[in-house]
Amino acid sequence: EPVLDVDFFRRWLTTAAASMEREADHLTQLDSAIGDADHGSNLQRGFRAVTGALEKEPPATPGATLVLAGRQLISTVGGASGPLYGTLLRRTGKALGDSAEVTPAQLAEALGAGVAAVAQLGGAKAGDKTMIDALEPAVAALATSFAAASAAAEEGAVATVPLQARKGRASYLGERSIGHQDPGATSSALLIAALAATAGE
Ligand code: ADP
Ligand code: MG
Ligand code: MG
Repeated sequence: EPVLDVDFFRRWLTTAAASMEREADHLTQLDSAIGDADHGSNLQRGFRAVTGALEKEPPATPGATLVLAGRQLISTVGGASGPLYGTLLRRTGKALGDSAEVTPAQLAEALGAGVAAVAQLGGAKAGDKTMIDALEPAVAALATSFAAASAAAEEGAVATVPLQARKGRASYLGERSIGHQDPGATSSALLIAALAATAGE
């Protein structure tokens, strides 16, 4: 089994930042249908701050890398997704502790704690048409492989299309939220795809 070191986590986050840049317009387009048209610009700003902070003061461990990234997202993203993604990365980082290297199994367990913290903070459950719909299946599939987690996240995001939103701005639309893919579930699938790409899967 491969060991994941601090360089792996830096590459994951810079790869994710590049995905957010590339997909910013698409994410904002999705958010314009059922939200306030800022999801792409929110994550672009947040992940630029993440890569900036990682260059300026590169942390020495995987855990500290994710904690720093989470803190940047919380402080630079005004929307709901900032505190939620910030909590995901901070909580996952804390769960990794201060070891220099972690196994994929340890990362899977830590991400599980991170996703649970997001669910607790936002009060969303699977099926509420949020980022949880991509993140929960991804964590479950991470026991198999990074590639399986990425596929599960993408499937989860696509499966939000027929759902009615029960959390976040989209829930204000009631039944009119049906028929659109959730922006946060879509960006979560990008985050997990970046993880698989970093692992070479
Ligand atoms: P805002 O809605 O404040 O403009 P964003 O547009 O950046 O924030 O993010 C919207 C996304 O955040 C949604 O598509 C959804 O996936 C996610 N989200 C919103 N509220 C919640 C919540 N309570 N729990 C989980 N995810 C949520
Ligand atoms: Mg928005
Ligand atoms: Mg907003």
